[in-house]
Amino acid sequence: EKKLLGVSAKDLTPSYDWFQTDGLITVVIYTKQKDMNAELVIVDCQDKRLRGEIIVNEHSYVLEVDLDHEVEDFFINIAEKIGKVEIILKKKDNVHWKMLGQPLESHNTFIKRKNRGLFYRKCKLVSKTEVTHDTKLFCFMLPKSTCFQVPAGQHVYLKQIIAGTEVVKPYTPLLPFLPLNFKEPSCHDSANIYLMIKIYSCGLFTQALDHLQIGDCISISNPEGNFKKSQVQALEDLFFLAAGTGFTPMVKLLNFALTEVSSLRTAKLIFFNKTEDDILWRNQLEQLALKDERFEVQFVLSEAAKDWMGKQGRISSSLLSGFVKRSRKDSKVLICICGPTPFTEQGVQYLKDLGYSQEEMHAFTA
Ligand code: FAD
Ligand code: NAD
Repeated sequence: EKKLLGVSAKDLTPSYDWFQTDGLITVVIYTKQKDMNAELVIVDCQDKRLRGEIIVNEHSYVLEVDLDHEVEDFFINIAEKIGKVEIILKKKDNVHWKMLGQPLESHNTFIKRKNRGLFYRKCKLVSKTEVTHDTKLFCFMLPKSTCFQVPAGQHVYLKQIIAGTEVVKPYTPLLPFLPLNFKEPSCHDSANIYLMIKIYSCGLFTQALDHLQIGDCISISNPEGNFKKSQVQALEDLFFLAAGTGFTPMVKLLNFALTEVSSLRTAKLIFFNKTEDDILWRNQLEQLALKDERFEVQFVLSEAAKDWMGKQGRISSSLLSGFVKRSRKDSKVLICICGPTPFTEQGVQYLKDLGYSQEEMHAFTA
């Protein structure tokens, strides 16, 4: 067993215990992680099957059992400082449980996140609203038997059977709108997942999505992604280089930065689109820029009409050098880039050429 600073790997593995009263079963997970929070806990409990997953840095701990008896409902309690997570199950019948249940395949395992297969649950389409001529905002509701939150900068996978074949694609949950009042942390609407999706006329997955009716279900996975909120902590200048639907990861991130990062001085978005009609949430972005003096937005069009007065072209070194500027010498900066792969690759290269370090940029990719 490898020793790290006198702490063995085994000591870092979470463990669990359970106990019961007449009406409740309490499963306690000792995560051994100090900063536990709701974004690190994913619970599904349906048809006597309980699956609880705890994210511990690069690792994932899973509890998975076929419960001894049925449950009616469940709650989650997190003691953040001591890293204790309780899953409280409400018994359907007030009977004494002889055991928690039969362990399933992944029960009590602690492995690298990337080696943990995706877990899906069926979510219902609640609403679908137009954002632009080809982009829609989909709202999916998590079932009552599921509890998780999607952290800023992370995506989920959607799965559908199309013409007899299982197809999976990633999408980035965002907020239903850009909150204009950043003074209060926005209350979390965690039962709904909002996705802004461009429907391509020849797109395999998006065509099938567009044909879903309100009330239809689709499989949605646990959140994934390598963006860490710590990248935004103590930040002074935040820049977003977004192209098309590459705007989606910026929404929660911008909200988080403007609400919770007190050191933040500037947040600037440079948004690349083909035409004016393709700009997502233009009005909301302009409203936010008026309302919050830290925020600024600039639109750049690659196929502008003659009457467009704004900036034109694609991502370039000269455009970026004028836009990405520190608010003061040595300020702590992060530049987020997301869009079509060639856009992201070119952006990263230009930023390197301008002297920004790897730690000062984050590219959203698959
Ligand atoms: P496809 O059938 O794959 O093709 C789409 C269109 O693009 C077609 O018109 C096709 O002709 C063309 N095309 C396909 N491949 C290429 C290529 N390599 N070069 C040029 N053209 C090509 N999309 C969103 O709308 N919203 C999101 O929030 C979102 N989040 C994402 C998060 C991540 C991490 C990643 C990697 C992608 C994300 N995407 C998002 C893109 C999404 O996953 C799909 O790729 C997209 O919806 C297209 O799927 P499709 O099956 O409909 O299209
Ligand atoms: P689009 O075709 O409408 O293009 C928008 C802008 O991107 C263009 O105006 C142009 O400025 C720029 N652009 C396009 N192709 C370029 C190229 N080859 N080189 C340089 N710049 C280029 O964009 P769209 O259809 O909305 O596509 C958005 C892309 O973002 C998709 O490829 C999607 O997969 C990706 N995306 C990725 C993530 C992620 O997290 N990785 C999230 C959301 C979207």
